[in-house]
Amino acid sequence: MKPVTQQTLGEEFFFQSLEYGFHHDLITSLPNYVSFRKSLKQMLGNAAAAGQEIAVLWIDVLNLRREYSIGGDEGAERLIRTVADSLRPWVNGGELISRYSDQCFVIALRSDDRIEARLNWIVEEASHLHIRGSEGKPEIAAGVAFFPEDANSSEDLIRFASVAAVSAAGTRGRYAVPFQPEMNVALLQERSLEKDLRIALHEHQLTLVYQPQIDLRTGDILGVEGLTRWDHPTRGPVSPTQFIPVAERSNLIHEIFAHSLRRLLIDAASWRAAGVTMPSVAVNASAANVRQEDFVSIVERELAANPLGHNTQLDIEMTESLLMDDEDLFSERLKGLRAIGVNVSLDDFGTRYTGFNALKGLPLNTMKIDKCFVHGVDRSAQAQSLCQTIVVMARQLNLKTIAEGVEDFGELRALREIGCNAGQGYLFQKPVPSDQLLRFVHEWPERKKQGKFACEFLDVDVNLQNAPNTFSGIV
Ligand code: C2E
Ligand code: CA
Ligand code: CA
Repeated sequence: MKPVTQQTLGEEFFFQSLEYGFHHDLITSLPNYVSFRKSLKQMLGNAAAAGQEIAVLWIDVLNLRREYSIGGDEGAERLIRTVADSLRPWVNGGELISRYSDQCFVIALRSDDRIEARLNWIVEEASHLHIRGSEGKPEIAAGVAFFPEDANSSEDLIRFASVAAVSAAGTRGRYAVPFQPEMNVALLQERSLEKDLRIALHEHQLTLVYQPQIDLRTGDILGVEGLTRWDHPTRGPVSPTQFIPVAERSNLIHEIFAHSLRRLLIDAASWRAAGVTMPSVAVNASAANVRQEDFVSIVERELAANPLGHNTQLDIEMTESLLMDDEDLFSERLKGLRAIGVNVSLDDFGTRYTGFNALKGLPLNTMKIDKCFVHGVDRSAQAQSLCQTIVVMARQLNLKTIAEGVEDFGELRALREIGCNAGQGYLFQKPVPSDQLLRFVHEWPERKKQGKFACEFLDVDVNLQNAPNTFSGIV
């Protein structure tokens, strides 16, 4: 494996290409969702000032998966390129186009008397193309939402256009279906989920499970991350990827954060009573939590409320979105947390692009490499070079790296070779309730010496009781 370093690439090129990669889709070279959202915000600001209307068009390419099954990567790329090439000429200067996700494009156009016809031409043309080098045609479903009529914020406009596109898929529409509030079943479902979540918090349906973080060199347990679980009496288990966004939009996220932190500290104290001192315990915080004015005092209050709180090395995992939106606030919160002895990790690193300069000088401890880069890191050259780039960047910032979602030995070895410090994933342990985590801690020193784990780690015994707090300091 050839290491990517700043020296081999040249500093400027290194960061330029990193920045380009994080803002663009590699197949079509169109801006991706990160830069689209940012540009749409600006466009809406200008339109509001000038009293203009904007149409946000969401285009789903429905047969992408089928083209992939028939023609593999090449077939899927041909389809995507064909659609991108047909859309591009419709977008004028000052308007926006993006490959927003795998199978969808989002376009923002200035709206006038002819907008309906223009939208329908766009969709009509894209649906009647021949995919180059193939028999097939793109199957398109398109929805549109208007500013300011349907919504004011970029998030809602994009979401409403996507809701309209879902209805279009049902009727195999060949035109852009306009958003209508009653279409928004998703919104209604969200409201019902929110109501249940409120009850869940008061009826103690939410629990915390734990996943260990493992030193990739020695196999030592460096800490655990607490993840929230919701077992609803009739819905069954609801994934946090479903209820956390709902909680974030409804302010329930503050109660969830306090609840998780309290539970985490109680469980950490119970492990200690059982003879296990965890070097570090992590909890997730949403941007909305961190943005709260008294966030640092909330954390401090919870630490003080637990008799062993201040003996626990707490780590708070935050995503980059806050840093991107408000650097000053982010920096202030980090300093506040550092002052009360709390560490901060950047979660899902790589899914958005945060410039090197924005991170420089911030009192962070760890970068968590998102699992989408870790998946197949031993088999994909692209995943490998992105992981390497992140590790090099982290090292220059004096940060540790934890790879998320390590699922097999191939990934484990590739990550170690790249120089990633720690790993977390199903390979070691799925997230489990507190008592099972304790069992894992007791069994791990033997387990890591046996079977397939036997030749992976240096022979250094785990002794959590006496282990120095290897994870809290910057190494
Ligand atoms: P995350 O913080 O990135 O957590 C890692 C997710 O990856 C967890 O999903 C975990 O169960 C899953 N995972 C761990 N190892 C593997 C693996 O080897 N392979 C795969 N495919 N997945 C693995 P989970 O528990 O469903 O949580 C999803 C997300 O929900 C979390 O992502 C986090 O952003 C959010 N979340 C969970 N609990 C909380 C919470 O208490 N507060 C906040 N704000 N967010 C939370
Ligand atoms: Ca996390
Ligand atoms: Ca993560």
